[in-house]
Amino acid sequence: MQTPLDQQPRASLGFFPTPLVELSRLSRYLGGPRILMKRDDQTGLALGGNKTRKLEYLVGAALAAGCDTLITGGAAQSNHCRQTAAAAAASGLACHLVLGGEAPETPDGNLLLDQLLGAVIHWSGELRKGERIPEIAEQLRAAGRKPYIVPYGGSNAVGALGYVNAAAELQQQLDKQNLQIDRMLFASSSGGTHAGLIVGTYQYELRCEVAGISIDKDEAGDGPYPEHLCQLANATADLLGIDQRFDSSAITLQDQFTGAGYGVVGELEREAIKLLATQEGILVDPVYTGRAMGALLQLIEQGVYTKDETLLFWHTGGAPALFPYAASLINPGR
Ligand SMILES: *Cc1c(COP(=O)(O)O)cnc(C)c1O
Repeated sequence: MQTPLDQQPRASLGFFPTPLVELSRLSRYLGGPRILMKRDDQTGLALGGNKTRKLEYLVGAALAAGCDTLITGGAAQSNHCRQTAAAAAASGLACHLVLGGEAPETPDGNLLLDQLLGAVIHWSGELRKGERIPEIAEQLRAAGRKPYIVPYGGSNAVGALGYVNAAAELQQQLDKQNLQIDRMLFASSSGGTHAGLIVGTYQYELRCEVAGISIDKDEAGDGPYPEHLCQLANATADLLGIDQRFDSSAITLQDQFTGAGYGVVGELEREAIKLLATQEGILVDPVYTGRAMGALLQLIEQGVYTKDETLLFWHTGGAPALFPYAASLINPGR
């Protein structure tokens, strides 16, 4: 039977299901609890990450609307922009990226990949959230193109469908392996992942806490972040004809780990990156998953998460940013 989710236009961009693995060496090292990891860093699209799932629905919508160009924006090291550039190339679309900052002499990390993937880059100085997108879209329209604006972080209701679907995927994997989880944790920033998982865990009856680790205070930029998440979850539910209303009681946010701000690597991230690399051979990133994993480790250490629980960490990607962060990972304080 076709569900409302199956009826949404969707481009095939990644390899799914992503692996569900157990971090048994890390668990043993910590003396518990049991920790599972959902490897959304392995979605397969140009080094992968959580934006692939959102882009399947966003590109689906762009193609259905007859568009020929994707436009989006973000920071110079945006994983979202890199995956959007790859999604455009894989779908025969042009891609324009509006990036904060100035052009560096030699591009590195995600920015290097944006260029290899053929994206046209517009530098926007202080404005790192795509504020110049409407103006660039207008210029493209005047030149006869049909641009599709991919929202900041891919986080609107259409993009969040990717994580409604991810919850269904996880539910099947857990069922098959006869596993149950008490909590799921992930880096939460522009909100599409978080909102999609709130709706998806409700819809597919995954009974666990859905805990976002805030990466930046009020990153989404339009009022308090929890309210933004409620609105996004409700818009996503509306799109699928789900009656349920989500209010602040549906939101779990750990917001005490934002450190010195977005993209500033501290001891928390450095230690988490090192621990995952040496105990599991898994690379987490300096901006998102290193911070979220650092938070998970602290919450275990503080006894907030107890040793008899089963935790699931969504690895949302980001490893290409390790390279441009080399100096702050290897020589802290320099
Ligand atoms: C974008 C991103 C996130 C945050 O996801 P949102 O849906 O924007 O909240 C987490 N991890 C990585 C690696 C990302 O690139």
